[in-house]
Amino acid sequence: MQLQDYPTEPRYGATVVSSEKITEDGADVEVRELVLEVDQHDFDFEIGQSIGVLVEGPDEFGGSVHHRLYTIADTPLPRSIGKPEVTIVVRRCDYIDDYSGEQYSGVNSNYICDRRPGDRLAITGPFGLPFEVPEDRNANLLLIGLGTGIAPFRAFVKHIYEDIGDWQGKVRLLYGAHSGLELVYMNDKRDDFARYYDNDTFDAIKALSPRPNWADPIAWDYAIEDRAEEIIILLEDEHTHVYLAGLKPVRDTFDKLFSSLLGSADRWAAIKSQLEAQGRWTELLY
Ligand SMILES: Cc1cc2nc3c(=O)[nH]c(=O)nc-3n(C[C@H](O)[C@H](O)[C@H](O)COP(=O)(O)OP(=O)(O)OC[C@H]3O[C@@H](n4cnc5c(N)ncnc54)[C@H](O)[C@@H]3O)c2cc1C
Repeated sequence: MQLQDYPTEPRYGATVVSSEKITEDGADVEVRELVLEVDQHDFDFEIGQSIGVLVEGPDEFGGSVHHRLYTIADTPLPRSIGKPEVTIVVRRCDYIDDYSGEQYSGVNSNYICDRRPGDRLAITGPFGLPFEVPEDRNANLLLIGLGTGIAPFRAFVKHIYEDIGDWQGKVRLLYGAHSGLELVYMNDKRDDFARYYDNDTFDAIKALSPRPNWADPIAWDYAIEDRAEEIIILLEDEHTHVYLAGLKPVRDTFDKLFSSLLGSADRWAAIKSQLEAQGRWTELLY
């Protein structure tokens, strides 16, 4: 689905409850976590879904309103607690204009990152298919996230261990960013995943770029070198569900990586088509 296909109505008012920078000082990028309180009492959402944020123009490209999507990064509060709260994780984006070659600031991400507690936002949604939790608690969950693609997994892992509990299958989070300072929710500033390491079933594998510049590739192959055998076993296990989130190139990266791990692109293609056909493959890519 293209961005323009997402409806900008109905829109709901939301108040910024908090805005926290969750990348470490010195990181090349700024990622913020915002908690929004939605006016609409029955704004229901599920893990894996996204909300839209609308920012009014003027827009030099013709539209009057910018609409961009952000994945929800926390589990819903029980309705009885009050107005719904939505947590989003936003990377302050810049881009180079193809024609002029000049660097511009992304409209929505900068607008959102500049909001402070008490400020108001217009939101839409929720959109997208939820991340389904397998009924079988012995199922293995392979969660692969790049950059802001960590957002749905923060909610998903919390749901698995804090709401469901007693998960028996292996939960493996493969998380990549360009530097440790950018590894949000897993850096010195905030380590939200630390509380799950006590569970025998949970582990996270971090992958960084050997040279932390924006364009440098993340060394996934190096990061999983010691764990290759375990990942092969997981991929070949019919009880494994794979979830992928983040920028679109991560799909190609993992197609190549898993092809090489499994010895051939055909072997990976066969396993992937089984994962897809059996509803064990979920992706949230943008
Ligand atoms: C389903 C979906 C879920 C999304 N979830 C998130 C999320 O949880 N957090 C988030 O920060 N963004 C997320 N995005 C991207 C977000 O919607 C915007 O595209 C982004 O904030 C840039 O919007 P902008 O108006 O600031 O900049 P634009 O004027 O649209 O230009 C931004 C530039 O930054 C690049 N870019 C966009 N998003 C990212 C990113 N996350 N990391 C690195 N580069 C990027 C774009 O390719 C483009 O070159 C999601 C997109 C979709 C479709």
